[in-house]
Order: sequence, then structure tokens, then C-alpha cells
Amino acid sequence: MENNIKNKVVVITGASSGLGEAAAKHLAELGATVVLGARRFNKIEKLAKDIQEVGGKSLAISVDVTNLEQVKKMVDTAVQQFGRVDVIINNAGIMPLSPMDRINVAEWNTMIDVNIKGVLNGIAAVLPYMKEQKSGQIINTSSVAGHKIFNGSAVYSATKYAVRALTEGLRMEVKQYNIRTTIVCPGAVKTELLEHITEADIQQANKDYVGEVGISPDSFARVVAFAISQPEDVDINEIIFRPTAQE
Ligand code: NDP
Repeated sequence: MENNIKNKVVVITGASSGLGEAAAKHLAELGATVVLGARRFNKIEKLAKDIQEVGGKSLAISVDVTNLEQVKKMVDTAVQQFGRVDVIINNAGIMPLSPMDRINVAEWNTMIDVNIKGVLNGIAAVLPYMKEQKSGQIINTSSVAGHKIFNGSAVYSATKYAVRALTEGLRMEVKQYNIRTTIVCPGAVKTELLEHITEADIQQANKDYVGEVGISPDSFARVVAFAISQPEDVDINEIIFRPTAQE
């Protein structure tokens, strides 16, 4: 059976570490051409080279997802180089958790900018191409925290609930163009995500928990590959996965 991944052009944001990096490697192994977006160009450039050295197809493009022009340029470049864009994985995100009474307003704003506006920018950049192609798939990374609110996750959860809302709204509007949408909601996965928590006590508590139950980013890579690999008339709308040991 064809895997329906081979030769697809897949743009992945947040590809410089964690879930995005794992997805890029796995999808490239399965025959996709992967376009890697993130701000740390040295990391995605190295990943692109590593993929090419084992026979894969890849391109690294520096992007800040909060900047619509940069996101459009990344997608335009992907289309110029490879002729089309089949999938975007809007995966870049940050999680500076803190209780609201610590009033970290700048972090609230950055989370909204990266986790919500960054996803919207990705959608805005690919939709004209996918409508024209009459095919495509938009995969947005939400979270278990997009289904349930934890102590200290109010704003982060709000952004991840928003990702689910906008993806479901998008699904109903773009099915007429044969565009699939997929929400992926991971639980605790061991990545760099906790490094940006500025509140020392909150960071330590989360590191202790994820250190104990967290699973490998390969889990995410397998999930997105499953969603992409379905026949075009099958849309995996949402997947929640978490460590077996997680609450
Ligand atoms: P990492 O911190 O390892 O990766 C985050 C990625 O996002 C990096 O590649 C980073 O690249 C990129 N990024 C952050 N800000 C920007 C920006 N402004 N523009 C472009 N890229 C940006 O964390 P994860 O891999 O864990 O996180 C990936 C996604 O998964 C996030 O949306 C996160 O919320 C979500 N998630 C993670 C879970 C987990 O347990 N790990 C659980 C549930 C959801 P760079 O810094 O180079 O720009």
C-alpha cells in the first residue's frame, strides 16, 4: 500500500528541535520533501544536511512565525523550489507557564503571538496555493493543554484551545477545496519546551514531571505520519496522545 507521504512537499515550523525536528526526520525517511522553518538557522541547516546525506530531500529556511511576510516567503520559496506545497505543520510554539497572579504580561503576549498568530500566518501563507491545487493538508500542533487547564497553564491553554477552534473552523470552510485539517494534541514529550519557563519553581516542577513521565518526540513524528499517510478522502481531524503514565 502506498504511504501517501512519498514525494509530498511538507513545510514544518519549529523544525529546529523537539517535535518538529523528529517529524522532519521521519517524514523525510518516508520519502517526503521537507522544508524546515525556525529562527535558529544553524540548527535547521544542519538538519537539512543530515537528511540529504542519507538520501532525503530538504531545505532550511529561516523564519519567525510571528512575521507574516517571513512565513509567506518561506512558503513561496518552497513552492518555487519544489513546485507545490502539500502539507504544512504549524508546530512552532512556546510555553512559558506561570500563574496569572505573577502578571507576566510580556510572556502572555508572546505566547499569543507565536502559538496563535504564528499558526494563522502559516494558514494564510499556504491557503492560496492549496485552494489553487485543490489539495493540501494543514496540521496544527495543539496540546493536551488544549483540552484541559492545568495550574499555571491558563494563557498557554488558552492559546492551544484557540488552535483547536480555528482548525475546526478552517476544516468546515476548506473541505470544499479538498484540503484536510488535522489537530495534534501531544501530552508530555521530552523537548526543549520547558527551557523557556522563566519562573524557577514552575520550571523545576515541570522538569520533574516531564522527566518522570515524558516520552520521545518520535511519538509526534509517528502521529503526523499516520495523519498524512491516509488516502486523500480520509481526514484525521484530531489526535490526542500522551504518555501512558500521564494523568
Ligand atoms: P521545542 O522548544 O523543542 O521546540 C519549539 C520550536 O518552536 C523550536 O523549533 C523553535 O525554533 C520554534 N519557535 C519558537 N518560537 C518561534 C518563532 N517565533 N518563530 C519560528 N519558530 C519558533 O518544543 P516542542 O518541540 O515541545 O514544541 C513544539 C510544539 O509542540 C509547540 O507548539 C508546543 O506548544 C507543542 N507541544 C509540546 C508538548 C511537549 O510536551 N513537548 C506537549 C504539547 C504540545 P527556534 O527557537 O529556532 O525559532
